[in-house]
Amino acid sequence: MELCEFLKNSYTCYHTVENAATMLEEAGFTRLKEQDVWRLQAGGAYFVVRGGSIVAFRCSAKGGNFTVLASHTDSPCLKIKENAAAFDGTFSRINAEGYGGGLWYTFFDRPLALAGRIVREEKDRLAAELYTSDFRLVLPSLAIHQNREANEKFSVNLQTELALAGLSERSVADMVGPYVSYDLFLTPAEEPFSCGADGELLTSPRLDDLTGVYASLKAIAGATPSDSTLVAACFEAEEIGSGTQGGAGGDFLRSVLSRICIAQGKSREEEQAAYTASLFVSIDNAHSLHPNHPEKCDPTNRAAMGGGVVIKSHAGGAYTTDGMTSAAVKKIFSDAGIRFQTFYNRSDVRSGSTLGAISLKEVSIPSVDLGVAQLAMHSAAETVAKSDVEELEKALAAIFKAHIEFTGNEVIVK
Ligand SMILES: [Zn+2]
Repeated sequence: MELCEFLKNSYTCYHTVENAATMLEEAGFTRLKEQDVWRLQAGGAYFVVRGGSIVAFRCSAKGGNFTVLASHTDSPCLKIKENAAAFDGTFSRINAEGYGGGLWYTFFDRPLALAGRIVREEKDRLAAELYTSDFRLVLPSLAIHQNREANEKFSVNLQTELALAGLSERSVADMVGPYVSYDLFLTPAEEPFSCGADGELLTSPRLDDLTGVYASLKAIAGATPSDSTLVAACFEAEEIGSGTQGGAGGDFLRSVLSRICIAQGKSREEEQAAYTASLFVSIDNAHSLHPNHPEKCDPTNRAAMGGGVVIKSHAGGAYTTDGMTSAAVKKIFSDAGIRFQTFYNRSDVRSGSTLGAISLKEVSIPSVDLGVAQLAMHSAAETVAKSDVEELEKALAAIFKAHIEFTGNEVIVK
């Protein structure tokens, strides 16, 4: 699957996981269920899904450590409530709440799809089904004549600004068919497009963090058997704090890694030792230098689009990179001829956060934060440089190819 197709069709975390599963099955991975007893083969390639999260892995034939690439499957959008459809005699509208920290003004006057998962009753079963509307909704702006201050100050109240679903009365069931319950979202349905005079930029919904998800899937699909067990973990719920059962704050990853250790015949002792020698790579995008607002960047560690993979650091721990893990990936990138740059926030602004630091509370592995530089983070249409996405793919492939082993005050990188 090409990146643009992946971006376009991954409307929600559930769609991302299904598209990821398709890519992995095409690459020969076997689907596992958490509820089954696993019989893993040395050298085998597998994946397992929990809600809107997916973990894929290639078992090492030698036991060994882990190299984990982690990213997130969700992006800011609107989540619809139960009893969401309201008809006022003229308009049908959808009652929704904000999911994550969206740049909400960008969601106005754009095509929105109704998408997510629907739980339907089938005799004695309640089955979740992926859903994408074949119709579009719109969040209409108020005309400039009726809001003369819109260009000076524009605030969004998501309880009063509701998406328009049409001109006749209809319930959610009228639109999506009979259901028992659902997790449905209003999510940007705009096609990704190339821009720039040479087509060197890509603008699309959900670049944060589907570029990371896509690059890590490509890396694990294309990897060859290694001394380490290679893992691509793509988590739901990063935009809302990662606190769900399948999120980076839950035990999904730790559970999968433990089960791999059991299959490899490792003792608890050997499992703990393996984690301390492994590498965890948290992949999420960074703010690029903005051409119109250069003053927003750190003076000496500004990431710019087209400059290669970004290594992110933060004194307060919002990013997990430290001197050792930074040195390890810098060496891998230098040896493989991969361009990289460093990113820090300005010291006088609050940092964003991501899943790396949250995942470490569940399973503590030496960790580094990477990503690509992008503009307009959390907009309905974000922008990256295509060359950076390619560089990220190469970087993750190089990390999987390297032999990495943390031994305390040393890290072996070959
Ligand atoms: Zn992100």
